[in-house]
Amino acid sequence: PEIEQAYGLKGVLEHSFERTRHDASGVLADYIPELAKADPERFGIAVASVSGEVVGVGDVDLPFTIQSISKALAYCLALEALGRDKVLAHVGVEPSGDAFNAIVFDALSNRPFNPMVNAGAITVSGLLAEAFGAEAFEVVLDRFSAAAGRRLAMDETVFRSEAQTGHRNRGIAHLLKCAGALGADVDDAVELYFRQCSILVTATDLAVMGATLANIGENPLTGSAVFAVEAVRNTLSVMFTCGMYDFAGNWAFDVGVPAKSGVGGGILGVVNRQLGIGTYSPRLDAKGNSVRGIAAFRDLAEEMGLHVFDPT
Ligand code: GLN
Repeated sequence: PEIEQAYGLKGVLEHSFERTRHDASGVLADYIPELAKADPERFGIAVASVSGEVVGVGDVDLPFTIQSISKALAYCLALEALGRDKVLAHVGVEPSGDAFNAIVFDALSNRPFNPMVNAGAITVSGLLAEAFGAEAFEVVLDRFSAAAGRRLAMDETVFRSEAQTGHRNRGIAHLLKCAGALGADVDDAVELYFRQCSILVTATDLAVMGATLANIGENPLTGSAVFAVEAVRNTLSVMFTCGMYDFAGNWAFDVGVPAKSGVGGGILGVVNRQLGIGTYSPRLDAKGNSVRGIAAFRDLAEEMGLHVFDPT
């Protein structure tokens, strides 16, 4: 807090950016061929407050695909639209300790472990596909747009790239169907999942989406009510325990805020009742999380005292 007073929010971001920008480790995701075309040097950090202040440093207006960050918002939407009991009947809330694309379900319940790994997210997309039919993608895009405070669009090329190569996710969807977790048609669930992953956002969008969650569902820039309070609470809980895949424990320990990453290079973080944070840097570590994104969050958490269990 003292540092923030001395330099202002922008100054704090500039210092974090400087301290973390030189790390060139990690690799671009290439299992979705189109993602390998990203410029690995791009890096941006943006923050939006619940009072509507938005600041950024670096490449905060550069669009990239939201990928797995969509899982958190789609889950929030499903909780609100279908109710907690219906969603819980299909997807658990337990960390899996496995990679995001692991082919493993909870043996006791035959449900996917949680909505932040692919198996759970595909199941959530299936629930939305069933509930909204042919309109499902529009419903998702509208809600993501409302959370970002501007009209978003989908990247057709990335969508096609993943639709053509996403055999593992199709395999997971068939196994979910076989296990009785997925009610929807396999193709409908997977198509909606690939589409939602291909929505284009910027680091600033992620920050504003995060601020919408931090502001218990109301977008602080537009004033529009985007998500219901209960759904936000449940979503943040799962983001806290499962949002960074099999790095979630380390993240909770060091950074201590609910967050969600995507293989496009984005990370969205939520400082409850205070801030949304969005980072973009496409080089990923072995677990599929953005290397400089993690570094920036660690640095900011330290500088600004963001950890949920910090004493002040
Ligand atoms: N669309 C990607 C996939 O399913 C998203 C994965 C991710 O961002 N971790 O493989």
